[in-house]
Amino acid sequence: MAFVSEKVKNLPPYLFSEFQRKKKKLMAEGMDVIDLGIGAPDLPAPQFVVDKLTEEAQKPENHRYSTYSGCQEFKEAVAAFYKRQYNVDLDPDNEVLAVIGSKEGIANLMHAAINPGDTVLVPDPGYPVYRTAVHLAGGDSVSLPLDRENGYVPLFGQVNKQIVQKAKAMFLNYPSNPTAATVDAGTFMKAVTFAEENDLLLVHDAAYDMVTFNGYTSPSVLQAPGAKDVAVEFGSLSKSFSMTGWRIGYMVGNKEVVQALAALKSNIDTCQFLPVQKAAAAALNSDFSASRKNNVIYQKRMKKLHGAMGKIGMQAERPNGTIFIWTKIPKGFTSMTFADKLLNEAGVIVTPGNTFGKQGEGYVRISLSVSEERLDEVIQRIQGLHLKEVTNG
Ligand SMILES: *Cc1c(COP(=O)(O)O)cnc(C)c1O
Repeated sequence: MAFVSEKVKNLPPYLFSEFQRKKKKLMAEGMDVIDLGIGAPDLPAPQFVVDKLTEEAQKPENHRYSTYSGCQEFKEAVAAFYKRQYNVDLDPDNEVLAVIGSKEGIANLMHAAINPGDTVLVPDPGYPVYRTAVHLAGGDSVSLPLDRENGYVPLFGQVNKQIVQKAKAMFLNYPSNPTAATVDAGTFMKAVTFAEENDLLLVHDAAYDMVTFNGYTSPSVLQAPGAKDVAVEFGSLSKSFSMTGWRIGYMVGNKEVVQALAALKSNIDTCQFLPVQKAAAAALNSDFSASRKNNVIYQKRMKKLHGAMGKIGMQAERPNGTIFIWTKIPKGFTSMTFADKLLNEAGVIVTPGNTFGKQGEGYVRISLSVSEERLDEVIQRIQGLHLKEVTNG
């Protein structure tokens, strides 16, 4: 371990790997394992985006380095998307930055925005990358506890004053991974006021901004008055357009923070391949019918699985967005022992809630990343476990 840094040695253990090992073993033994632990869409990227990629890849001028902050076509498409979707004006030159997926952007933002020893509030339960990003930048992450009773929205007035005074930044994420919670514009107004009052950088992760249904549309944090003074927002093509492997997203908002991340990144990477940026621009400039079509598919899966959950004694809210169901587990289990039981006895992989923070204990996250037929099979298998008796007994 002589060549490994303390930072890397101290990274949290990757909880999924245990399940993936078990999955391999069970599959080798002939079990038909259904993996609902994956946090990514199973649907393909829209054909017109693939066509645009191949068309742009034919042009030699696109084989060169991109400008560090992203090509004009992409940044203008992001600005136009914000105008159309949120009625938010963005200056493509100063308030938009291309990132190599929002995960990369989030990790590097911590290096650009905080100093070692700084405190950052992270949602608990929440996407594990926030915590790791803070750790890698030498900061201390502090849980922003979210609970079901409050719709997984922080009670800003009740956050420990001493912690808030010390904190430099706060992450939020709606529609949320893992809880599938969604908010209205009022929540972002409160969050912006809270950030203003406490000198916090508010970082909103909008990875699922376009993955919504049941008539719900997700607001942007930048719609809140004064947001550009304190907030940045990450967006991604990964979930909205099923483009996870393409590695393209953006950060928008506060000019100073956009410039800081741009300056840091210009020393680390040289942005994404131009054809990928141009294909992503085409997606953002499109009529979103491809996203809507996928959302109908997710909505149907959601309805099917959510309906069945109730019958097998697992309570869950009916989500208006994301590709996840966040559900309480039956009594007598921990998140881990329950996920283990599902894998060993039903051949179904779900993600234990405690993977997302202490507050996630007692829950599992179920991903809707398989077809309705496979979901029928999942429901049958879970029903076969007779969990209801366990719950009532
Ligand atoms: C998937 C996901 C991301 C990562 O998106 P990329 O743009 O592919 O890096 C970011 N945030 C959340 C909450 C996610 O679920």
